[in-house]
Amino acid sequence: MDKLSRFLDERATNGLLRRLTPQEERHTPAHAVREGCAYVDFCSNDYLGLSAHPALVQAAIDALRRYGVGAGASRLMSGDLRIHHELEEATAAFKGTPRALVFNSGYQANLGLIAALADRHDVIFADQLCHASQLDGALLSRAKLIRYRHNDPGHLAELLAKHRAGFDRALILTETVFSMDGDLAPLAELVAVKEQYDGLLVVDEAHATGVFGPRGRGCVAAAGLTDRVEVIMGTFSKGLGGFGAYVAANATIIDYLINAARSFIYSTALPPAVIAANLAAIRLCQDGLDLGPALLATADRFRAALRAQGWATGGASQIIPLHIGDPHAAVALADRLREHHLLTLPIRPPTVPQGTARLRLSLSAAHTEAHLRQVLEALGHG
Ligand SMILES: *Cc1c(COP(=O)(O)O)cnc(C)c1O
Repeated sequence: MDKLSRFLDERATNGLLRRLTPQEERHTPAHAVREGCAYVDFCSNDYLGLSAHPALVQAAIDALRRYGVGAGASRLMSGDLRIHHELEEATAAFKGTPRALVFNSGYQANLGLIAALADRHDVIFADQLCHASQLDGALLSRAKLIRYRHNDPGHLAELLAKHRAGFDRALILTETVFSMDGDLAPLAELVAVKEQYDGLLVVDEAHATGVFGPRGRGCVAAAGLTDRVEVIMGTFSKGLGGFGAYVAANATIIDYLINAARSFIYSTALPPAVIAANLAAIRLCQDGLDLGPALLATADRFRAALRAQGWATGGASQIIPLHIGDPHAAVALADRLREHHLLTLPIRPPTVPQGTARLRLSLSAAHTEAHLRQVLEALGHG
């Protein structure tokens, strides 16, 4: 117990203690109510505002009425419903791959898929900024884990040249849109390095799905590289407004995961209402909703306005980091913005490296120009 208290005290002293703060009401990122106060939410990953879209809500209601609440068992037991397969077929068509498999969350997808694809005879090369779920999957696999410098295919090639020969398989892990910096992976170069060294490229499109690429199909589709990336993982929980995740790949990989991915095998299937909402979101995208291009154009203009006001920012997506450095200063700035009814949770170590605390602003199609002006006015000159 002393050890736990010491951990908490140390976190508090360093400005790193996290707390839960519930919202009493929430429709889209444009409207959240917390402690009786209305806010515009810039922390949400509901990039297209789809979580409140009538088509998703209605699909969930219909599925609830038809199937009830819980799936009752794992997919390999009796929890496997026709609607899970419909979602997988629609997702494969959306991503342009032969097959797709639904996982219960992005975290569980990365954990299960990476641990299933690699073992102690293999080596995993992960971008230094890869998501915690990819790293946890790599640790669980017992493969040798080597980190390459963020978005640096040259460094990856050096490391492959040095270490590849001693191992059976080589997995290369990256996000396509990085969750904390909002920058994009150099996919064509990563594919070239992967092919030179006979590796398997496993990408995470959590923040790209719904936003990037033709009709929101993601960055791999945008780059025309679908046939050259072995495993494309992504989530329904962010841009698509629902919950859960998918892995899009060839039939062999998907059939293997059904038999070997422990987070898939040993967990109850997602509820039918969630699956139905995800399916409605994919159909909206396929039917040409296409909110991504306007959102990304807005993000570019917003970044330029921030720079004009003297703030250090970056990225090339709807995720906009404001680089602060000191975690206390990042917290103080978030507090100041909250007084202006703007939610922008500070991102601190260990989520990001020491000395790189930041405010992370997620823009959503649900935000208006007036909301963005509010942020610029509240920030003032940096
Ligand atoms: C959010 C996120 C996940 C986890 O997805 P959940 O569905 O929230 O569990 C995985 N990878 C990346 C890059 C993410 O940002």
